[in-house]
Amino acid sequence: MSMTLTPVKMPTLVKRMFPNYIWDIPTTNKSIYLTFDDGPTPEITNWTLNVLKQYNAKATFFCIGNNIEKHPNIFQDILNDGHAIGNHTHNHIKGWKTKTKDYLKNIFEAQNVINSQIKTCHTESFDCVQDKPCRSAELKILNPKLFRPPYGQIKPKQGKQLIELGYKIIMWNVLSFDWDATVSNENCLNNVISKTTNGSIIVFHDSVKASKNMQYALPKVLEYFSEKGYRFESID
Ligand SMILES: [Zn+2]
Repeated sequence: MSMTLTPVKMPTLVKRMFPNYIWDIPTTNKSIYLTFDDGPTPEITNWTLNVLKQYNAKATFFCIGNNIEKHPNIFQDILNDGHAIGNHTHNHIKGWKTKTKDYLKNIFEAQNVINSQIKTCHTESFDCVQDKPCRSAELKILNPKLFRPPYGQIKPKQGKQLIELGYKIIMWNVLSFDWDATVSNENCLNNVISKTTNGSIIVFHDSVKASKNMQYALPKVLEYFSEKGYRFESID
């Protein structure tokens, strides 16, 4: 399944095939769940954090372990702003092409980086000035552990083992297609506006590749749904 053929909104059939994965958060509340994959990325993640702050919005960042190692300060900025953190493997690997043992190993490697960063934030460094939101982020990360498979690719066996280890597999029901260079910024915005409803999990990317579309669409999505009385919440 090529990502470019993936419909913006996941069909019910796919959800029924994988009922153990989370595709949305069923609710009658006006809550929307923004997610950002592939960071931390210099400048782009910080830009994203600033825009979210302007709308008092919380989100969930599915980080790549290797990027956290390269940019630990940006990872700390995400924590300090009180967003939730999810695991997106250490090297952004494809589940379908990877043996389950190796796939899990790569996820654990990322989890170790995440856990050690959280520890640093609370025990070794005391310049964590926003103690309260930071601690709530910590709880969100440790219980439960969130995982999103890169490219949406995960074998049933891999998913099963992760769930047994206490992970929640977070998929989505709205794709922005921000990473796709053939999708215009207007279409990226329309993808999100037209498909989002109560409890939707929306995928954006705080990556270089997606930045053109994401930086166009995100402020408009925040504006549009805030005016309609929606709140943006992290997944916990
Ligand atoms: Zn990704």
